[in-house]
Amino acid sequence: MRGMQEAVNEGKMKGKILIVEDEPPIREMLGYTLVKEGFAFEEAADAEEARALITRSRPDLILLDWMLPGMSGIDYARRLRADAETRDIPIIILTARGEEADKVRGLDTGADDYITKPFSTKELLARLRAVLRRYASEDQTAVIKIGGLELDPQTYRVSAGDDVINISPTEFKLLHFFITHPERVYSRTQLLDHVWGQNVYVEERTVDVHIRRLRKTLEPYSFDKFIQTVRSVGYRFSTR
Ligand code: CA
Repeated sequence: MRGMQEAVNEGKMKGKILIVEDEPPIREMLGYTLVKEGFAFEEAADAEEARALITRSRPDLILLDWMLPGMSGIDYARRLRADAETRDIPIIILTARGEEADKVRGLDTGADDYITKPFSTKELLARLRAVLRRYASEDQTAVIKIGGLELDPQTYRVSAGDDVINISPTEFKLLHFFITHPERVYSRTQLLDHVWGQNVYVEERTVDVHIRRLRKTLEPYSFDKFIQTVRSVGYRFSTR
């Protein structure tokens, strides 16, 4: 992360992007765009090639095509997330228009974002920078202040002004995840993966239970409104 943080400090974000895409013209276009913006890149035509490259040198972000020969981009993303070595590499999935309906499923793999083909270079770069910025600023121990709420990940302490809010470790982790990933909807499955971890067996409705508790904890301070239900999709943290 240090390299990336330095790049952020320079004002222009750089890093090495791994392109996993089986169509040479798209790979070429992506590579051209990235180099022009000061990024370095490596390319792989399928998951197997990608795996070999990642073992040699870790990329700062992976642009991963959904439809690949052999292992699909979605399955590969899941595999990357399941492996402790690669689980924190940001992933953006490239999808074709016909796969639109499956977007949420795509994000269930733990991908950070997705882009629908055909996309403009402007959109690609905007999403790429947003994801990199989010990772670079994700210092897990920093005290976070948002809308009058203060979270200290080192002491698991939450406060509102002078009041310390009594909160359980799970509610704390849930709140911490929301606050560090604002304005974005997460399904129950995604929340389970991110907050409880992928190898833990917890039912989806457990998420609802903890959301309810979290809201109740925040209610006296009127912060419960930040935890928003998005019908038939999941939950979102928003101060808007
Ligand atoms: Ca493809």
